[in-house]
Amino acid sequence: MENVLSALHKDRAYVGGEWVGAISGAVFEVINPSSGEVISTVPDMDDADVRLAIERAHAAFPEWAARTAKERERPLKTWAKLIAENVEGLAAILTSEQGKPLADARNEVLFAATFVEWFAEEGKRAYGETIPASQRDVRFLVVKEPVGVCAGITPWNLPSAMVTRKAAPALAAGCTMVLKPAESTPLSALALAALAEQAGIPAGVLNVVTANRGNARMVGQEMTSSPLVGKLSFTGSTAVGKQLIAQCASTVKRVSMELGGNSPFIVMADANLDVAVSAAIFAKFRNSGQTCIAPNRFFVHADVHDEFVSRLLRSIAKLQVGDGFKAGVSLGPLINEAAVDKVQTHIHDALKRGATLVAGGDRMPGTGHFFEPTLLTGISPQMLMSVEETFGPVVGVAKFLTEQELIAQANATRLGLAAYLFGSNAACIQRISRQLQAGIVGVNTGAIATEVAPFGGYKESGLGQEGARQGLNEFMETKFICEAFIA
Ligand code: ADP
Repeated sequence: MENVLSALHKDRAYVGGEWVGAISGAVFEVINPSSGEVISTVPDMDDADVRLAIERAHAAFPEWAARTAKERERPLKTWAKLIAENVEGLAAILTSEQGKPLADARNEVLFAATFVEWFAEEGKRAYGETIPASQRDVRFLVVKEPVGVCAGITPWNLPSAMVTRKAAPALAAGCTMVLKPAESTPLSALALAALAEQAGIPAGVLNVVTANRGNARMVGQEMTSSPLVGKLSFTGSTAVGKQLIAQCASTVKRVSMELGGNSPFIVMADANLDVAVSAAIFAKFRNSGQTCIAPNRFFVHADVHDEFVSRLLRSIAKLQVGDGFKAGVSLGPLINEAAVDKVQTHIHDALKRGATLVAGGDRMPGTGHFFEPTLLTGISPQMLMSVEETFGPVVGVAKFLTEQELIAQANATRLGLAAYLFGSNAACIQRISRQLQAGIVGVNTGAIATEVAPFGGYKESGLGQEGARQGLNEFMETKFICEAFIA
């Protein structure tokens, strides 16, 4: 394992430009979910470490914020270049700690680099405006300023891209950041920090603190209560997100929240079924179903239901489950035993309530948290898999007949991240996509995440956006300067 982890493998946290252990000296293990092997230990930091990191970020802020956007662009562009150049090493680390197939890990690393490159550029376009004044001899100016020290908390499902999707706009805006990666996947974040250091991003501008699950609450508490922190950007579960929003209230911190999804995948009677099936395979089985935009509820028109299911079944049969380093593997393991249990519970619940199992349905024998790609039909709104995010390789299909019934069911959830719609009638597509309560709608495609477009959820799926100019704006305050002329 050492050889794949390479020179980018860091087993210490990165605070104030130094590679450090926890003040307490505690460490925790990082486990390969495919083999169960321990691949590294990293510091198990607590509130004292986070306080220090926040102070370092606070100390680094004035100089970083005072730079012109072009001066910040240079090291950020170098960081993006280094990430892309080190794709093999970063992908190996990612697959080791997260399990996804190496080809997918490479794609994620390159996706991570695009955020850095894009925001390095976009920092130069943090435009303000002048407003025609309502009095004579006065000038109305609106300027954008960095929020200050920002805290970031990221999940394990995209351990590289979620880090740069927060850090890049924060840094481009002139903010500094203290980031806590998920306990399952800290090594990708540390490797990215090592490249940020090489790129010449100054000490204290980006800090990565690692902590095990037991300390996560304490770390979050420190981040959300510190008066030195201006904003929290979080990606993770809705339950933890709600808790963090409540904690941020005490200091009125800005928050960006990318929370859970329960995305509908809609196939109309006139859909191109080959397109719909290949999009379903991509969007649902990528990362073994462990993405917040993974379709969670499939609604297929009764006229094409059987044909869609039989074509999907043929495609599912071709999927190979296994270790992410093995050639040809399309699905790696789930992240941990709790994830396997959740998937199993959702399937058992659906079967008990009358669903039909068409393929898969069980964990794979042997070590690792591998699960069979699963297909169920006869899904109803009361089933757990309709109500909650399954976060696993399970497709559950429900039949629909009328557009009215479809819209009501698709929107019958407190979540509203993504939605997918397949059909060929332009008027129908326009009508339905306007009515879907979701922040991102994919029409005849399953690939909807890009650095150039805003990504964010409706309802309890989140607050604010990531990516695009909206993503930069999340890290900036708006200041109105009302300037009277002196004769
Ligand atoms: P998951 O269940 O998929 O791990 P979580 O929302 O629990 O999703 O985790 C997302 C991120 O939030 C991780 O970095 C995790 O360590 C962190 N986290 C979990 N609980 C808390 C908490 N109470 N305060 C701050 N961070 C937390």
